[in-house]
Amino acid sequence: MRDLAVRRVVIENAYITPVVGEEIPCGHIVVEGDRITAVGPGPAGAVHEGAERVDGSGCLATPGLVNTHHHLYQWAAQGVTPDGTLFEWLVASYRLWARLDAEVVSGAATAGLAWLAKSGCTTSTDHHYVFPRGRGDLFEAEIDAARRVGLRFHPCRGSMDRGRSQGGLPPDDVVEEADEILRATEEAIQKFHDPSFGSMLRIAVAPCSPFSVSGDLMIRSAELARSHGVRLHTHIAETADEDEHCREQLGMLPVEYLDGLGWLGPDVWLAHCVHLTDKDVRRFAETGTGAAHCPSSNGRLGAGIARVADLLRAGAPVGLGVDGAASSEMTPLAGEIRMAMLMQRARYGPGALTARQALELATIGGARCLGRAAEIGSLEAGKLADIALWRLGGFHAAVDDPVVAFAYGQTPPLARLLVGGRTVVEDGELRTVTDAAAAEAGTRAHRRLLGET
Ligand SMILES: [Zn+2]
Repeated sequence: MRDLAVRRVVIENAYITPVVGEEIPCGHIVVEGDRITAVGPGPAGAVHEGAERVDGSGCLATPGLVNTHHHLYQWAAQGVTPDGTLFEWLVASYRLWARLDAEVVSGAATAGLAWLAKSGCTTSTDHHYVFPRGRGDLFEAEIDAARRVGLRFHPCRGSMDRGRSQGGLPPDDVVEEADEILRATEEAIQKFHDPSFGSMLRIAVAPCSPFSVSGDLMIRSAELARSHGVRLHTHIAETADEDEHCREQLGMLPVEYLDGLGWLGPDVWLAHCVHLTDKDVRRFAETGTGAAHCPSSNGRLGAGIARVADLLRAGAPVGLGVDGAASSEMTPLAGEIRMAMLMQRARYGPGALTARQALELATIGGARCLGRAAEIGSLEAGKLADIALWRLGGFHAAVDDPVVAFAYGQTPPLARLLVGGRTVVEDGELRTVTDAAAAEAGTRAHRRLLGET
């Protein structure tokens, strides 16, 4: 591995899409330490001696992409129930997930995060909610993987306390006791959460879903998160099955239920949000609640098409997520830009979501969901140097508009990916871990989960 400590980088001659502010057809970005210090047209001029110069000719520079929903452990559990509904898929998957241990999580998270980096992701969340007893520290295993791969990481301490005997969907042996969940969650916040500007690691509190978590745990989780100033995350309104379950068991629709529990607000972002009423859309906007849109996963499970255009029109924050690899096998984050755009247009017409709006979802929209819009999500002086440089030569050169070339077809290769000024990907290859080692770690985790090793 070459020296990764170079922290002065100058990118020149690139087409720059800062997302906030005007596009620059041929410009420069200067990086000092972990920050962007200048973005502008033309060459950078005199810069610090010893800075690494990157020629961005034929490249598009965008902010690093933000992944707002994932389950990294699922890299080890891909291909299960390939044609099932969410509930059919979950019931089959729980049996497999009950076998998770720290070694499986470590390998799966390494492969999953490496795959994200290779599609332009610089900040990722993870929602881990399966903690079988006596299997090591699963949460720490994924945090270690994020450190090795070099991504900014927001692991969400998930939980399930409503097993089948309590009217929930998961079997009783994969759920935990509420007191134990809250104790472990508080410990994770105290041990890992870094609220500072430029933080590489922030924790969120994330009970799994209305059909696997008690109302009591939802309320106590919100109290815990708010007492520590961390964010809240859960799945909501994903499928028609969930609507039916909530109507039967709770006497109301999912978002109405969350609202009553105090679970809408500017410190909350929610995965999926497919089945929303007009009132739900208004409540998201009024309360500043974010939505993590996962179009490939929604398509894979036949869940439906989220009301992204309506949420944006109402003013709610919306980000993109790949969701776990078990429900969106190997989905690249940059590909979700295209998928989001096409699915909105398929439902609402060609003006529903432009390429630039879809890029906003993947960048500043995700940053807003995570409460980090002052730090990441756009290319501006003073923000963190999370930058993706996409190579638009070759086949992509036949499209004149670089943002259209980037968003409409197959994602172009990465020339460079910087996270806090540090090179994580160069010429399409990982530079922190190797591609081969990350892929091997994921395959080993899969074999181990299946009991083959
Ligand atoms: Zn999910």
